[in-house]
Amino acid sequence: MEILVTGGSGYIGSHTVIELINFGYKVVVVDNLCNSKIESLKRVEKLTNSKIPFYKLDVRDKKALKKIFEKHDIYAVIHFAGLKSVSDSIINPTYYYDVNVGGAICIMQLVQEFACKSFIFSSSATVYGNPSKVPIKETFPLCAVNPYGRSKLMVENILQDMLLANTDCKIALLRYFNPVGAHVSGLIGENPKNTPNNLMPYISQVAIGKLDKLKIFGADYNTSDGTGVRDYIHVIDLARGHIKALEYLENNQLLIANLGTGKGYSVLDLIKTFEATTKKKIPYEIVARRKGDVATCYTDTSYAFKKLNWQAKYKLDKMCKDTWRWQKNNPNGY
Ligand code: NAD
Ligand code: UDP
Repeated sequence: MEILVTGGSGYIGSHTVIELINFGYKVVVVDNLCNSKIESLKRVEKLTNSKIPFYKLDVRDKKALKKIFEKHDIYAVIHFAGLKSVSDSIINPTYYYDVNVGGAICIMQLVQEFACKSFIFSSSATVYGNPSKVPIKETFPLCAVNPYGRSKLMVENILQDMLLANTDCKIALLRYFNPVGAHVSGLIGENPKNTPNNLMPYISQVAIGKLDKLKIFGADYNTSDGTGVRDYIHVIDLARGHIKALEYLENNQLLIANLGTGKGYSVLDLIKTFEATTKKKIPYEIVARRKGDVATCYTDTSYAFKKLNWQAKYKLDKMCKDTWRWQKNNPNGY
């Protein structure tokens, strides 16, 4: 019995593959490498001393994907494969819906055809849009405000419809907050193809000297220091949340859970912690707000703790330390 991990050579996927193997699961990976390199999986193989079956394919290619389901005894799917840039999704919405929704539908159809037991979907805190209050509970209204978020919401809805029609497949919708950090070995980490959109990889590229300075998008929010507040979660904690979700689905039909630490940190908090843990100075300037950003976003962790007996254990300084080790050891990524 194997777990199919789509997008398994990407950032969260590669860290989750490590944890799955460490927990004794057998894993098969598919990825079209549009936003990752095969080197990440080679390093995962080295770290876990294992051989990972890998297929380079697009998840929208149902014929190719079907062959994987025929060849392997797949009882669960963790579906990471997708596109994740909010700004790109606004520029090219049909492409985003095609990959994120079309790709997920392809997999879902095969999951039904081959009677797989569980499906775990990478959703996002963006499905809550601009929440009226924090911390965000799973019961809050869903209101995605851009094509990326809407593509996540669409897949969540389709999966729940599938559950109604097919009681055999169990489903987890995991809404991630802000994954950061890297494997403690410094061998695996986030590897943005272009200039990073996200804060932590931007900061680490400033620290290594690839970028001059950070632009802080707005210091006039209604937060403690005026800069945006987010719930940063170590990618290994996030990966372990998937193991807990797999276990939960053994005895339950549906899980909808936020995965975050429950703590909000501002942009300036993150800069200060990064500087203190790495002894690197991060020059910055304050510029206008980024369109579409919310002021504050962090989760209520009680539901995930109650249902999964899971909570993030790594703190912000460890997130910074591990990010820096990865960046320092791999200045040009993989
Ligand atoms: P990533 O880009 O590093 O990984 C995604 C992987 O999917 C990449 O390896 C890419 O090559 C692959 N892929 C993309 N389109 C594909 C296709 N059509 N067929 C096959 N493979 C394809 O991103 P990540 O940060 O690891 O994110 C993983 C998932 O988690 C995504 O679905 C993303 O939307 C979601 N998510 C990420 C974040 C975040 O901040 N990183 C937050 C919330 C949710
Ligand atoms: N941010 C910033 N400069 C950057 C990237 C991000 O000031 O170059 C801010 C952004 O406005 C937000 C926080 O950092 O308040 C986290 O942004 P990120 O893109 O990492 O996550 P998201 O906004 O998608 O939660």
